[in-house]
Amino acid sequence: MHIKTLLVTLLPLICKSQVKDYPIQPVSFTQVKVTDNFWQPKMNVNATITIPYILEMCKKHGRIDNFLAAAGKRENKVCSEFTFDDTDVYKWIEGASYALQVAPNATLSKYLDSLIDIITQAQEPDGYLFTFRTIKAAKPHDWIGDKRWIKDSILSHELYNSGHMYEAAYAHFNATGKKNLLNIALKNADLLCKDFGWGKLEIYPGHQIVEIGLAKLYRITGNKKYLDLAKFFLDVRGPHGDAYNQANKRVVDQTEAVGHAVRAAYMYSGMADIAALTGDTAYLKAIDAIWNDVVMKKLYITGGIGATNNGEAFGDAFYLPNMSAYAETCAAIANVYWNSRMFLLHGDAKYIDVLERTLYNGLLSGMSLNGTKFFYPNPLASVGQHDRSPWFSCACCISNMTRFLPSVPGYVYAQNKNNLYVNLFMSNSSTIKLPAGKVQLMQTTNYPWDGHIALQVDVAKPTTFALHIRIPGWAEGKPVPGELYSIDEQPQKVTIAINGKPATVKVEKGYAVFQRTWQKGDNITVELPMQPQHVYASEQVKADEGRFAIQYGPVVYCLEGWDNKDSLVQNIIVDKNAPMQVSYAGNVLNGINRITMPGTGAKRQLNTTDLITSEQTVTAIPYYAWDNRGPGEMEVWIPYSQAAARPQPAPTIAYTSKVTASIRSRSIMSVHDQLEPADSKDNSVPYFHWWPKKNSTEWVQYDFDSEHTVSSCKVYWFDDGPWGGCRIPAKWTIYYMKDGQWLPVKNATAYEIAKDKYNTVSFEPVKTTALKLEVQLPVDYASGVHEWIVE
Ligand SMILES: [Zn+2]
Repeated sequence: MHIKTLLVTLLPLICKSQVKDYPIQPVSFTQVKVTDNFWQPKMNVNATITIPYILEMCKKHGRIDNFLAAAGKRENKVCSEFTFDDTDVYKWIEGASYALQVAPNATLSKYLDSLIDIITQAQEPDGYLFTFRTIKAAKPHDWIGDKRWIKDSILSHELYNSGHMYEAAYAHFNATGKKNLLNIALKNADLLCKDFGWGKLEIYPGHQIVEIGLAKLYRITGNKKYLDLAKFFLDVRGPHGDAYNQANKRVVDQTEAVGHAVRAAYMYSGMADIAALTGDTAYLKAIDAIWNDVVMKKLYITGGIGATNNGEAFGDAFYLPNMSAYAETCAAIANVYWNSRMFLLHGDAKYIDVLERTLYNGLLSGMSLNGTKFFYPNPLASVGQHDRSPWFSCACCISNMTRFLPSVPGYVYAQNKNNLYVNLFMSNSSTIKLPAGKVQLMQTTNYPWDGHIALQVDVAKPTTFALHIRIPGWAEGKPVPGELYSIDEQPQKVTIAINGKPATVKVEKGYAVFQRTWQKGDNITVELPMQPQHVYASEQVKADEGRFAIQYGPVVYCLEGWDNKDSLVQNIIVDKNAPMQVSYAGNVLNGINRITMPGTGAKRQLNTTDLITSEQTVTAIPYYAWDNRGPGEMEVWIPYSQAAARPQPAPTIAYTSKVTASIRSRSIMSVHDQLEPADSKDNSVPYFHWWPKKNSTEWVQYDFDSEHTVSSCKVYWFDDGPWGGCRIPAKWTIYYMKDGQWLPVKNATAYEIAKDKYNTVSFEPVKTTALKLEVQLPVDYASGVHEWIVE
């Protein structure tokens, strides 16, 4: 029965070219052999270190055990925390398959087969595959509901798991030609076709991705029911659902990016796929409008999207905080997927501008240079509270990185009839089959460290085609389309020569187009004017007021404590006209261009608002490379006005104290950083909190540098209600150290507890070496401290 079903399902396997699809097709990453010094080493680290590492972590953290339990090879116990944990295994398979395609590896191939064998056994007879339900744990997970699918629009993630499995199956089938995983996927998709649809279960996926997975199954099989189901999953959304997962309007009526950023960008990618596969213009109109909304109002200079941790979501227009930026790694990857598809639909280089910006900055920052530590959010400023982690219980970003990286060469070229697009710049050799004939293309460059690119064309016979070479927006003084970011220096002209002769450049949709009959050995040289550029944000972006960012080609820079005086960067001010020097440092952070400039460091002093300033050399490094020497201060947007800088604190009693708390937290130093919040919920300045603790007694302690007499304290509470988990405390008390004992301060004034202001308490002067701020958390919430001043 089983085998017979498989044969039937695979019968309609048809050639890709029969399916209507994107007018432009990417040149597959398997046709592009990257040999450069930038991406090749990163893909190599992914293949040799990250992929084995993530497999070990999946084993260690119950992901494989869940499949074993569902397969009946282990006790009926769910071994991990989240209902989407199966996807880590699928994403790992996708990454491993892609890596196999680049470099064969018999051991890995064998392991994949044994893992797929377990997944086969974990699949229920009718195709259902979701370990959390199949395991039949004594107490089912709260998120999954008592029947299949019914909680998918909320939290069960059954369809999300299916979507990632289809993506993995597509990759594995293409990489190995084997159908073992594809058969599992098709059987599952057939079940979805049976259960969902108009007049059947009319439920929308809570976390999108099944749409693009189904589109891929349609591409492989040509079976239109998968395409129809993908379209159904889009059309069934809205208008009465949550904005959180883009179900507040029908998808065709959406014009703005809202809600959870990863879900959103996967959905827009799905809409692009269905638009390409069906010719649906209503989807196109919607995603064109949404794209403008994101690029003109909601995109970080790093290409990151999803500004707020509140729902891992897009914020309001121009709300782009730096230190609290969410900009999830998965959202950066989703942004690349989406922009790549927009390019394939429209053939405009502006989409590749966004893609390239994301790739070199907000996506690449997601993984450490050594391939074993990861960022979930990718902030644009830090005082040391951020650090990549070897694992997260919600490991989405980690497994996503490893599946994405091997596919990078697939974004370099694209083709449409006899038009060949050069989108990204990295040394590689490629074979591209155009209708006019086979073209071997050799690209040689040291990009992104310089802007010289050489392309050599090798054709068996003279071949007529149009070569479209992307002129990056940054090379024309335009970081991204629209007014969100601008550059004040006018770059030099891009020059292109063919066989050594300057060529007249005709630009169409952001590409220099050369339509000619190419001969063997023809060579093209492109000079992109690479120099440090000042980027300014629209004045509507309050977080970047009085500041500029530095970019060098596609690479956005940051200041990091490691390279700057006293390990500080928040206190630095750099004049807009300060000259910038670029030098290649081959032994720093795997080889980078470093940028140095003169600047000023500002420092507060006691009993006056006057600042002490001193000249210093300021050093910037590529943003993606920060936090590879340990956590510390970092800043992308550099103040040019003193008002925007955060001077080094004055040597107050609080600042010169050693500060500790009842929990270990990297944020603890923020209680004495002398940065005043605008209000209690202000997360643009650092704060310390006890979340997720509640209803407990906690403390912060100052150990003075020497004995001091003190008689008052001021505390500014952090409170992110009504949505967040912190509220002003139920009670607080100040203790002082006397003869090794904590004693409450005497004759204290009332301990005021109010939001949005300093709460002052005065008491009988005490001569002591330490103070303790004891906090009783509210019954249902945590509390937090912005600032604690001692006088
Ligand atoms: Zn993620």
